[in-house]
Amino acid sequence: MPVARILFPLPLPEPFDYAIPEGLAVPEGAYVTAPLGKYERLGIVLEILPDSAGEGRKLKDVVHVYDAPPMSRSMRDFILWAAKYTVSHPGHVLGMVLRARAGLGPSPTETVYHLTGQEPSRLTEARSRLLAAAEELGPQTATALAAAAEVSSGVVKGLAETGALRAEVVETDLPYAEPSPDLPGAVLTVEQAEAAEELTAAVASGGFHTFLIDGVTGSGKTEVYFEAIAEALRRDPEAQILVLLPEIALTQAILSRFEARFGAAPAPWHSGLSDKDRRRTWREVVHGRARIVIGARSALFLPYRRLKLIIIDEEHDGSYKQEDGVTYHARDMAVMRAKLEEAVVVLASATPALETMVNAELGRYTRLQLAARPGASRLPDVELVDLRRAPPERNHWLSPHLIQAMQETLEAGEQTLLFLNRRGYAPLVICKSCGERLKTPGTENWLTEHRYTGRLVCHVTGYSIPKPKTCPHCGAADSLMGVGPGVERVAEEVRVLMPEARIEIFSSDTAQGGEATRGIVDRMEQGEIDVLIGTQIVAKGHNFPNLTLVGVVDADSGMKGGDLRAGERTYQLLSQVAGRAGRAERPGRALVQTYAPDNPAMLALADNNRDGFLQIERDVRAELGLPPFGRLAAMILSAPSAEMVDQVAQDVISQAPNGEGIEVFGPAPAPITVLRGRHRRRFLVKAPRNVDLSAYMAVWTARLKLPNPVRMSVDIDPYSF
Ligand code: ADP
Repeated sequence: MPVARILFPLPLPEPFDYAIPEGLAVPEGAYVTAPLGKYERLGIVLEILPDSAGEGRKLKDVVHVYDAPPMSRSMRDFILWAAKYTVSHPGHVLGMVLRARAGLGPSPTETVYHLTGQEPSRLTEARSRLLAAAEELGPQTATALAAAAEVSSGVVKGLAETGALRAEVVETDLPYAEPSPDLPGAVLTVEQAEAAEELTAAVASGGFHTFLIDGVTGSGKTEVYFEAIAEALRRDPEAQILVLLPEIALTQAILSRFEARFGAAPAPWHSGLSDKDRRRTWREVVHGRARIVIGARSALFLPYRRLKLIIIDEEHDGSYKQEDGVTYHARDMAVMRAKLEEAVVVLASATPALETMVNAELGRYTRLQLAARPGASRLPDVELVDLRRAPPERNHWLSPHLIQAMQETLEAGEQTLLFLNRRGYAPLVICKSCGERLKTPGTENWLTEHRYTGRLVCHVTGYSIPKPKTCPHCGAADSLMGVGPGVERVAEEVRVLMPEARIEIFSSDTAQGGEATRGIVDRMEQGEIDVLIGTQIVAKGHNFPNLTLVGVVDADSGMKGGDLRAGERTYQLLSQVAGRAGRAERPGRALVQTYAPDNPAMLALADNNRDGFLQIERDVRAELGLPPFGRLAAMILSAPSAEMVDQVAQDVISQAPNGEGIEVFGPAPAPITVLRGRHRRRFLVKAPRNVDLSAYMAVWTARLKLPNPVRMSVDIDPYSF
């Protein structure tokens, strides 16, 4: 009897073997159930072993095989590779793949009711209201009809019994419409067309190839990769295409743009989806019917049948790094995935990560450059405002220079965007009487004051309380004072300065959900807002034609702390924000307020000298042997108390294996020192490029015997260092 080796989506170190009973067809990659412990569980057949593998062993039987195409070998290989690379159990990675496994079951159905045209024997007021609703809305569920008519759903049942309504069971997971490659796109400029041609040639010839589209904001990177998508659709009627975007860039605007170009909405995958929609996308992906999937980083782990093209837009974005559970960087994983699938992968950015630029220089990636915006649109002029020379008034945040520019913009009938990456009113609350800084209990995290909601909120843990009337420390009345600016406070300042201006705040507090976001975006596009004050959610994916001034309120805020990537990240974020200005015919400018105008990131912004900046960053990293010139891994330990974690950390460091060229630093407080009541310490491990750091970490972690409440996780290629 042949043997099936099954991997379960559980954090177990090994797969298990099962017998395949007579008459059950079990291909490699099949989605199956088999008994494990007390339950029958879903798993994947990693491989089929010959009969001899079962000889002399008492194996349990595979119970059930799902009616779905088996998981491809390349996908199974990817899972095993990803587990090894991230120092995780393969079952843990499989768990991410099977997140919406309910999609394996039968398609869900619902009962809808149609009008039959037959008169009910008795027509009450409620019944006639309901029939009117059915007439207006067409076939609907009983709940929907009853809600629309404001009657109880019993009325629907009653009408069905009299024959006035007819019930019908319908499937609710409809397949996605087939996208079409041949709708007209933009007429490409010469440099766009050249880039598109290289991409389409690579897609057409097949095989693994990595590209970087390095193009200034608004240069048409999207239009160019649209051509690659069209080619993939055209070449192979079964090809699937994955487009990854940072979560916050997954706006209705970008979905609509896909729909306009390909005549069908792409299948979405992000944290905002309902369970039902998630199941639907998953099912369509498994069956190979979803041709274009557009999603956040975890969409990389969907079990595509035939993935031929992966696009990673804004490839430099920090949100591609998953920090919880299996920690991975979706960009780097995507390149490996494409390699295993023999697919083309396209990274796109106006500010590529240093790692990506170095890979391009080394010839691992093909770099395609877009230097210009099409048409009359120009890049904005960036000007640094030296706050040391012309500071704002006390307890104000806008310098005289920025205020004047805002007033000119308002008078010209144009729009201003003020960028400040801090939600709420004030990032710190202190007591004027005793000096206490209010923190989340048990942590060092400051509480942020939110005036609209009247609450104090921890932006790390989500802890939140109504703002107290008295100081929780000394009991003084009315002594709590917000310190420093958040977007709400800047809005207050603008309201006083420009009482006639229409002002709105755009942050995750004011724009929760697609509806509210669309509202703000629409009003901005219609010119109904004069000054928009936003956090980083304004940085991406929006085109506001009448926006001509961008003001960066506090350019230095991302530079604090000891993170060596801070300069790179600040440069990327601010050039993206500045790039919002002057997208249409009108030229734009960006004023960047800083106390550190000599910082290389600021100078590069002002001179539009990205490559000069990258060169400086590169030299620093090369000197220190940091990525991409060396490798890094982190180990994070956490425990309910600081004493416990410190004590265990000493034991853990004593177990670190020796390795050629490997250096271990720490323990030090982790970047997030206290999370959900747990104190965290971090080791950083540095190695030369040619060292298999995953293997080193696997050896180290295998040696550890941690006492019960202590937890450990490994982060390969940590984003902050
Ligand atoms: P990026 O992705 O580089 O920021 P987009 O592809 O979003 O750039 O292009 C910016 C804007 O310019 C979009 O509104 C897009 O439709 C428009 N655009 C880009 N290329 C062309 C072109 N060749 N002809 C007309 N409009 C274009």
